[in-house]
Amino acid sequence: MGSFSITNSLTNANRPTLSFEFFPPKDETGWVNLKSSIEHLQNVSPDFVSVTYGAMGSNQETSLAVVEHLVEKVPTIAHLTCIGASQSSISQLLKKYENAGVAGILALRGDLPAGLAEFPPSDYTYALDLVSQVQESTDLEIGVATFPEKHPESTSIERDIEILKMKQDAGASFGMTQLFFNVDAYTSLVNKAKLAGVTIPIVPGVMPIANAKQVLRMAQMSGASVPADLEQALLQASDDSQARAIGMDFTVKLVEELKQLGAPGIHIFTLNHHLAALELVHEAQLA
Ligand code: FAD
Repeated sequence: MGSFSITNSLTNANRPTLSFEFFPPKDETGWVNLKSSIEHLQNVSPDFVSVTYGAMGSNQETSLAVVEHLVEKVPTIAHLTCIGASQSSISQLLKKYENAGVAGILALRGDLPAGLAEFPPSDYTYALDLVSQVQESTDLEIGVATFPEKHPESTSIERDIEILKMKQDAGASFGMTQLFFNVDAYTSLVNKAKLAGVTIPIVPGVMPIANAKQVLRMAQMSGASVPADLEQALLQASDDSQARAIGMDFTVKLVEELKQLGAPGIHIFTLNHHLAALELVHEAQLA
């Protein structure tokens, strides 16, 4: 993809970048659905996309296959988690991603998969170790996770920001947030981070509230708070289509606020579906 730089596009653009997140499908039907979603979403010319990575590399090969499918079409970021992995296996995977032509790596720790009581022995404890390895061994751009409402295991936002600064010093050049519904949490994170010397752009990740039940469940799992009036309106909706309308209306307003606040980009968690993502792009005039 030539000399495209995610970081430059986030810092220099006169409009917020538009990007989409996909996950590796579980079966053939999932692949068909994903490919069709990608085709539809390409029509709005995203600046870049990202592909998630299964807990402890559980679907490594499929993540790589999705990345390979995307890289020729659009600059692609591969998510990569390090917990449970060896340095040599990560090193091999980094080479594969480099050969595939990825634009960057989102360097993550990963979470304990359901059913495991503790992390197995690993060469890594924190994502910071992976950031350093990617920086030392590749020319790829490095992104890291950020948490507007604090990482669930962290003692405070301030501690998260100290760690973010360490990741910046180790080579990370952009941050991407966990899903959130409270714009003040994002603003506060960005402002506190700036005061602490964090200069890298922090891209908000936005989950369109199309399937309210699913999104409420994901919010609970990730520790994102849901405004009480939104939750009440979603739960009291007469049917799924009314809940969808309420949820999408809220999401469009959230994105409009983020744009007004000068967010460097909007990264949409598509869940491999194009309809809600496209609706959001059009309603919030992201393309
Ligand atoms: P870390 O930076 O290692 O932080 C984990 C915890 O350890 C935090 O509480 C932090 O405060 C603490 N900590 C970190 N460094 C230090 C240190 N040096 N000393 C002491 N304490 C420290 N998961 C997947 O499995 N696949 C994905 O594709 C994926 N994509 C994601 C995309 C985004 C945008 C986000 C926000 C998350 C994603 N995750 C993904 C989830 C992520 O793996 C988890 O949130 C994980 O719990 C934390 O990852 P991290 O990279 O922030 O970890």
